[in-house]
Amino acid sequence: MDKDCLFCKIVKGEIPADKLYEDEDLLAFRDINPQAPVHFLLVTRKHISGPAAVAEEDEALIGKMLRVGAELAARDNIGDDFRVVFNNGAQAGQTVFHIHMHILGGRAMNWPPG
Ligand code: 5GP
Ligand code: ZN
Repeated sequence: MDKDCLFCKIVKGEIPADKLYEDEDLLAFRDINPQAPVHFLLVTRKHISGPAAVAEEDEALIGKMLRVGAELAARDNIGDDFRVVFNNGAQAGQTVFHIHMHILGGRAMNWPPG
């Protein structure tokens, strides 16, 4: 846990969030500034600063994010068409330095992303 980290505060319940799912490893909640009709985030309870900081011991945890994310997408009726995004570094659009997986769906997506 990092005491100044926004997503650690959401994990601890110090800041409210519109939660979809939680278990011993992960928490999912809707993005406060959605970029698609469905846009939620999956975060690890463990503070990991971003994709580049994933260690060998975290591999199963990161795989679980994808499995649970797909299940939650299906529950939100976007199970066949959704985009998964991890941003790493400010230039790539990372603004919260606690690893999070975006799941977006409910509209057509463009490629390449901006
Ligand atoms: P990043 O830009 O780091 O990949 O994604 C951070 C995401 O967190 C953004 O999409 C932003 O809208 C979302 N976000 C930032 N602060 C909050 C918050 O307090 N609550 C929720 N639910 N989402 C947040
Ligand atoms: Zn954190």
